[in-house]
Amino acid sequence: MHRPRATSFCLATLAAAALATHPALGDEPTMNAGDQPTMSRDDGLPRNIILFIGDGMGASQITAARIAQGELSLERLPVGGLIATHAANALVTDSAASGTALATGHKTQNGVVSLSAEGELVPTVAEIAEREGLATGTVVTCSVTHATPAVFFAHTESRQNHTVIADQIVESGIDVLVGGGWSYFVPASEDESRRKDERNLLAELGERMPVVRSVEEFRALGDVDAATGLFAPRHPAGVEKRGYSLAEMTERAIEILARDDDGFFLMVEGSQIDWAGHDSDLAGIIAEMRDFDEAVGAGLDFAEADGRTLVVVTADHETGGFAVHAGSIDDRKVTEAAFTSAGHTATMVPIFAYGPGSVAFGGIHDNTFVGTTLISYVEH
Ligand SMILES: [Zn+2]
Repeated sequence: MHRPRATSFCLATLAAAALATHPALGDEPTMNAGDQPTMSRDDGLPRNIILFIGDGMGASQITAARIAQGELSLERLPVGGLIATHAANALVTDSAASGTALATGHKTQNGVVSLSAEGELVPTVAEIAEREGLATGTVVTCSVTHATPAVFFAHTESRQNHTVIADQIVESGIDVLVGGGWSYFVPASEDESRRKDERNLLAELGERMPVVRSVEEFRALGDVDAATGLFAPRHPAGVEKRGYSLAEMTERAIEILARDDDGFFLMVEGSQIDWAGHDSDLAGIIAEMRDFDEAVGAGLDFAEADGRTLVVVTADHETGGFAVHAGSIDDRKVTEAAFTSAGHTATMVPIFAYGPGSVAFGGIHDNTFVGTTLISYVEH
């Protein structure tokens, strides 16, 4: 089937129509064959969206994790495809440019956070979700001001503008914020602050939600409808020393966001798969991939029970030019692997989807298609 890529065609309508013929991929269809589908969440469109981004996750990263794990949660998503990742000004992208495409549907230059290639502010799926009354959140294993979370909640010409990004995250109306990076949120006079002013963003967030800096305090939060947990001054440790799993935090974020009757948008990032790729660290790739995959499983558990949740899993780019050369399925071991780059590559990355609206993601698309399609689902 030919799938139109132009935004002039209503992708949401297309997906709703596709669901009518593939009910197993989403809700029970609510249309009869002759009905005109409309842009309403009752028409087989997702009520909730969970977008998982494995930073630097190419097919070989998935392969290595699958050999070590035996079976992955990723295998539970029935729709699959590939995403081209190039930036507006380079074949090989960084996380800011590719994240901007995933979040807004627009190509931009490397390093730019959700501005178009011409420098115009372009709205993100999270902002549109917020405007439409949905709850929004993000759970990452890096500083929440790092490129991938930043592109969903901020707009600035450089990903290095961490305090500007922190300001904008706090002003975005976000409901769940989990990761590291509190040093960008506390006043300059506080120890370890990376701000140059006395603005206290944690206190500002604290006016509308509990704000904690330890996993223990976060676990102890009772029935809340919003929460911030920033567990490190900058980036949290790698999975072995982090003290919590991405799955635990994803589950908790979903539990909080699902209290909003209007639905929610949640972006979860396995941030450190990329860093292991940069370091040519095979064990690190496998450990971070397994942590990420477990979080995808938590998202799918909710989506399967809920029936109105779209889960999309993809990457911003591949890192390392990584390939698996030898190992054993029986022993669950990769014994030989190679890295052809210390940086990112232009290799297309996998995309998987489950639930209402998932059919549209099958096949080969540009990364802007992800942003455009998700926005068409939340915009009314
Ligand atoms: Zn990277």
